Amino acid sequence: MNEFELISRYFARRETSGTLLGIGDDAAVLSLTRGRQLVAAIDTLVEGTHFLAGTPPDALGHKALAVNLSDLAAMGATPRWSLLALTLPAPIEAWLRDFAQGFFRLADAHGVALVGGDTTRGPLSISVQVLGEVLPGGFLTRGGAQTDDAVYVTGTLGDAAIGLRSLRADAGEPGPELLAMRRRLTHPTPRVEFGQALVGVATAAIDLSDGLAGDLGHILAASRVGAILDLAALPLSDPVRAAVVAGGWDPVLRGGDDYELCFTAPAASNEEIGSLAAKADVRVTRIGIITAQRDLRARREDGVLESLIPRGFDHFP
Ligand code: ADP
Ligand code: MG
Repeated sequence: MNEFELISRYFARRETSGTLLGIGDDAAVLSLTRGRQLVAAIDTLVEGTHFLAGTPPDALGHKALAVNLSDLAAMGATPRWSLLALTLPAPIEAWLRDFAQGFFRLADAHGVALVGGDTTRGPLSISVQVLGEVLPGGFLTRGGAQTDDAVYVTGTLGDAAIGLRSLRADAGEPGPELLAMRRRLTHPTPRVEFGQALVGVATAAIDLSDGLAGDLGHILAASRVGAILDLAALPLSDPVRAAVVAGGWDPVLRGGDDYELCFTAPAASNEEIGSLAAKADVRVTRIGIITAQRDLRARREDGVLESLIPRGFDHFP
């Protein structure tokens, strides 16, 4: 199987609406919806840095796209197109089939077309670019949080960190709870529909890839505000709660790979947010408040305020 057979066998599919020219030429030509603005994001997954060697290819196909869709969700954009730059040590058919299956299952669920990419030999690395659309000015940023806004998160926090910990420990057969945590690591759910629903409601938003403390810290810095997190309010699954009791808050505050949304909104929007969450079938929890005092603090379960370093995972600390 040469490079071009590989591309046509696993990645070239029927072109969809808005794709004037897709895979097969030197570049794709895309037709934006009239009057919309283009939103672009790219993310890379490198073996050994972003995933463990031996991660199932279906998971990699899913996750490489999911982390990008999560970025568009945090912008409130509607995803439309993607490009895939794949660097592989060798073209193994079963690997490519499963990778493509993971990728396209998620792409199809969100109506995203794969319109181009690049295929090269080398250490396993996957870059996906996504392109989406918004109405003029109709996007979310990190920069709009206001004093006294409420802070929210979707889903539960720390699951992927506990999943990763269990994979690394490799202590025998995991039970159903740990398997669910591993699934949260390998198959994150980007909150695309809910992100779009937040446009015009949320004052700031970010997706959680590097841990709540650091990612909320980005909102605080961009918005020139601070926050108090209510630790007792953080939404935790049972295994994460057990891990917190045993070893502290790190998996929740500094664990990466949650791919949930963290956002802020005026307290008066609380009810509206509840109904948007119900409509999108997403759990949403109010976890704190924005303060004029420009630092990050946590209200412990005993009521005492503790200061938190707003730092998450960093490739170049
Ligand atoms: P060029 O040499 O002009 O860069 P390539 O040979 O890299 O073109 O790619 C040929 C076509 O296949 C292009 O349309 C490119 O976008 C597409 N393509 C290459 N690799 C992938 C991939 N992994 N997934 C999707 N499309 C791909
Ligand atoms: Mg090329």
